[in-house]
Amino acid sequence: MRLQGKKILITAAGQGMGRASAISCAAQGAQVIATDLDADSLQGLSQFGITTTTLDVTDKHAIEAIAAFTGPLDGLFNCAGIVHHGTLLGLSDQDWTTSIDVNITSMVRMTRAVLPGMLERAKVTGSTSILNMSSMASSIKGFPNRAAYGATKAAVIGLTKAIAADFVQHGVRCNALCPGTVDTPSLRGRIATADDPEQAEKDFIARQPMGRLATVEDVTPLVTYLLSDESRFVTGQALSVDGGVTI
Ligand code: NAD
Repeated sequence: MRLQGKKILITAAGQGMGRASAISCAAQGAQVIATDLDADSLQGLSQFGITTTTLDVTDKHAIEAIAAFTGPLDGLFNCAGIVHHGTLLGLSDQDWTTSIDVNITSMVRMTRAVLPGMLERAKVTGSTSILNMSSMASSIKGFPNRAAYGATKAAVIGLTKAIAADFVQHGVRCNALCPGTVDTPSLRGRIATADDPEQAEKDFIARQPMGRLATVEDVTPLVTYLLSDESRFVTGQALSVDGGVTI
């Protein structure tokens, strides 16, 4: 029960790593508020004692409302993000703006909204934790067709370090998570819509030296660690869990 007594909000918790993290955090004793754009995707989480509510992370009024609803948090996991596939040459202004909005502006707004409560909470507990979902892909290591994605996920690391530096003496830690290629519904969607899905899956696997896709269970132990007090001396870090891609 490494998260006993902690209240943690997770965005994009309807599927993939966000959902698995919500279940893991609840299993470790946290009071979890799981949010997602897609209300249907949140079904089934209440059986784990998780509170669910719809949240579009691009809606600034909804972000302010949810911060008021939750009250002071011990943990925030900004997990929401989208993948734009393509080089700079095929990137429309709209695709770029959407990538910025979902992948980084959402984290600025969400964190800004809950930070005062986390600072107050840290005065009582000594430590609160923000975790931002980055990626290994084109933020740490370059990959083809990830122009907007890599730029925004690199920005996540910059934002993480800035928040960590600003609040290191006030009990608020902030770290970024950089997974390799993880077998989630959206990855399956990217594979299915490729020109040659079989080859696309082989290519995704081939870029990971361990020779397989990550599972969500490869990632969730790092999530619970970073949201728990076990990581109390860790802040401002971009931690990779990538099957050896960035060796
Ligand atoms: P996923 O992409 O399968 O699911 C993402 C969830 O985000 C969905 O439930 C969707 O409804 C929700 N969502 C989309 N737009 C939203 C919005 N505006 N507001 C709120 N929710 C929204 O899950 P995943 O693959 O685990 O990806 C989660 C995060 O991990 C993303 O930030 C992604 O960039 C990052 N990531 C994924 C991989 C991977 O290989 N899957 C690797 C590294 C990083």
